[in-house]
Amino acid sequence: MNNIDDNIQRRGLLLVLTAPSGCGKSTITRKIMGDDNSIVVSVSATTRDARPGEVDGEDYFFMSTEEFRHKVSAGDFLEWAEVFGRHYGTPKAPVEAALVSGKDVFFDIDWQGAEQLRRNAPDDLVWICILPPTIQSLEDRLRARGQDSDEVIARRMLEAESEASHWRDADYVVVNDDLDKAIHQVRSILQAERIKRIRRTGLEEFVKNM
Ligand code: ADP
Ligand code: 5GP
Repeated sequence: MNNIDDNIQRRGLLLVLTAPSGCGKSTITRKIMGDDNSIVVSVSATTRDARPGEVDGEDYFFMSTEEFRHKVSAGDFLEWAEVFGRHYGTPKAPVEAALVSGKDVFFDIDWQGAEQLRRNAPDDLVWICILPPTIQSLEDRLRARGQDSDEVIARRMLEAESEASHWRDADYVVVNDDLDKAIHQVRSILQAERIKRIRRTGLEEFVKNM
């Protein structure tokens, strides 16, 4: 339900969750997005091939390396990086449009992307690092999820340590031991960040007419 407080204009924020694979990032993101219509998801551009079931413009904007390079030169990306030998980047225009209209933007990008957002949009970024309670629990969760072969799990476990080592760069660190608690923490961060004075662009107007 809308109340006066909800009607005060605000600038959206950029929410980045980084986590080693298997930490629960998708589960937490799905839950938060499921009951919040102020959030939009940033659709990245990539030069990798689409996987079965992936839809162009929904999962990614799939493009050639040439087209990607052209967009880099034109300054069309808010950030971009090479991951596993492929290029990935965040188109700038839709993000800025969402922020201006008071929508928050969720990202599925790696720590390299988050670091660039820190440089390119420091006032807009809220970076949450999700850590597992133990390394063993990561492996257990990946196995329980049942999506990956032994080989892929072994690779993800190797990468996990490197991804987790960037916790120092994040604004918040959530340990996903109890899932409900972790979701509550992420939701609380979002609520607090939304009412930060610098984001509440309608405050002058509100106070004038109070
Ligand atoms: P990610 O997106 O980070 O790779 P997922 O959200 O797919 O991770 O979670 C990996 C697996 O772990 C899923 O099967 C999920 O249901 C499970 N999971 C997530 N959080 C917890 C938790 N706190 N305790 C136990 N299992 C969890
Ligand atoms: P996948 O190919 O499995 O979809 O993604 C591989 C990795 O690329 C993931 O870690 C994902 O977070 C990252 N990634 C996806 N899009 C972007 C992006 O726009 N920028 C950056 N920096 N990383 C991205």
